[in-house]
Amino acid sequence: MTRDDAIARLKSAAPFDVLVIGGGIAGAGVALEAARAGARTALVEARDFASGTSSRSSKLVHGGLRYLAQGKFGLTRESVRERTALLRAAPGLVSRLDFLVPVRTGGRNGKLKLAAALAVYDIFAGARSRRWRDAAELSAEIPELAREKLQGGWSYLDAQTDDARLVLRVLQEARAHGALVVNYVAADDVLRQEGGVAGARLRDAVTGATFDIAACLVVNVAGAWSDRLRGKVGAAPKLRPLRGSHLMIAAERFPLQQAVGFYAEDGRPVFVLPWEGAVLIGTTDIDHRDDLDIEPRISRGEVDYLLQATRREFPALDLTESDIVSTWAGVRPVVASGADVDPSKEARDHLVVTEEGLLTVTGGKLTTFRATAVAALRTAVARIPALGRVGAEARIFAAPNLETGKALEELPDAVARRLIGRYGDFAPAVHAAARAGDMQTIGATPTTWAELRWAFRAENVVHLDDALLRRTRLGLLLRDGGAEFLPRIGEIARQELGWDDARWRAEEERYRALIAQSYSLPARP
Ligand SMILES: Cc1cc2nc3c(=O)[nH]c(=O)nc-3n(C[C@H](O)[C@H](O)[C@H](O)COP(=O)(O)OP(=O)(O)OC[C@H]3O[C@@H](n4cnc5c(N)ncnc54)[C@H](O)[C@@H]3O)c2cc1C
Repeated sequence: MTRDDAIARLKSAAPFDVLVIGGGIAGAGVALEAARAGARTALVEARDFASGTSSRSSKLVHGGLRYLAQGKFGLTRESVRERTALLRAAPGLVSRLDFLVPVRTGGRNGKLKLAAALAVYDIFAGARSRRWRDAAELSAEIPELAREKLQGGWSYLDAQTDDARLVLRVLQEARAHGALVVNYVAADDVLRQEGGVAGARLRDAVTGATFDIAACLVVNVAGAWSDRLRGKVGAAPKLRPLRGSHLMIAAERFPLQQAVGFYAEDGRPVFVLPWEGAVLIGTTDIDHRDDLDIEPRISRGEVDYLLQATRREFPALDLTESDIVSTWAGVRPVVASGADVDPSKEARDHLVVTEEGLLTVTGGKLTTFRATAVAALRTAVARIPALGRVGAEARIFAAPNLETGKALEELPDAVARRLIGRYGDFAPAVHAAARAGDMQTIGATPTTWAELRWAFRAENVVHLDDALLRRTRLGLLLRDGGAEFLPRIGEIARQELGWDDARWRAEEERYRALIAQSYSLPARP
């Protein structure tokens, strides 16, 4: 359905049972679970789907080993359970990731302490994945790893995903259950009746037109921006925005086959991990004091911090700033404890609160989106009885149609798995849309030109950055946001969206400015 059609339907099909405000992973999860339970559901996203924090994470689907150290057994158990469910539901989108934690004499990770934590992790997962490896084995496998005081290390299994594509896949599933889902439509205010919030005033961010939509339940899943809507019902702010930033390095400069976790000089955990043909370094955890309307970006101090920590752990690589392909930063919607604590010590639990009838859900993790959505919607069963069925379905995504696999038989296994994982039963259509040369990959990424063509054709792309930063991740994976490929990308955009030269020039200019401002190295003072 085109975006214009979706907006027309939004107006004609109102009132809804559930109106979801925010199209990140939390909103997508709420929309899916509400629609699957049979509630008439709509979701609006002020900018692009996943353009908030949900495209800026470390891409891990993980139990969170460090939460165990904080004694958060419940959070870890839930995360491990959801990791298992996601691995099962979306192979090709969520995949296993080998993790290694080196142990050094006098270091923060004692061999036995880590063994105990990993044993709990294994118990929650119902399978043993931890394995001790001695220093000689590690040095042979990762010759670039610092050998100083190296005793060995623990290997274990976790998982990773493409965060923005995960959001899109959840939204696709929500649509399949009847949810109406629209990007570039913002909720500017809530509508009130005697019983409390009963809808929202929406604004089409493309045309500027405003309209009201009534709903029995309004769910505020606006992430780091949630306090704004809460403010409309007089609620006091609860969030402490914390920024986390990353660096991307080309795999040819960092030939890494597994994730490695270690500590920066200040004792904070840092990790490097292979992702989509490149290597990601993350992350920081600092108070974000910038205006939330400005796209977050990495600071000079964060670049130095991440680079120094990685250089210390992998001295032989001699990484420098010139090896950085891209950077990105996201803002964690963390619920403030109110205490004057270090950012890393703030809990990562989710918050579910109803104020004047407005249900706010925030602060969870990408990994636990389903559990968070189920817990939140169950609080509203008295208002919408259909929500009593929420959580009854064990599978996160319906199993792909048998025809889907058959239609992709001629493709290499990895490509077919990737397409099915990302597009579900639309995978054959993505393949069928490919023109000559479109099944080739772009640069050193695993992304095919067909995926990009499909994004322009069928995935509600409004701006070029929607296609290059979220439908595909080329803007993160390629130097200068993939500038060298822009002429061919422009051709596809013209073919699929009918953009004329003036529109393409405007989109290209907007995209280049965004890459320079928020996805590149900050200028030296
Ligand atoms: C650096 C970093 C690394 C992380 N790494 C991981 C990880 O590896 N694994 C993991 O499980 N979790 C991770 N997380 C946590 C995870 O990314 C977030 O918890 C999650 O993405 C939050 O999703 P959300 O939907 O609540 O927020 P968002 O993704 O920010 O979505 C909120 C959306 O609401 C929209 N919105 C705001 N106001 C309005 C309005 N008025 N009307 C309509 N729409 C509106 C915004 O545009 C935005 O798209 C990480 C977080 C950060 C910052």
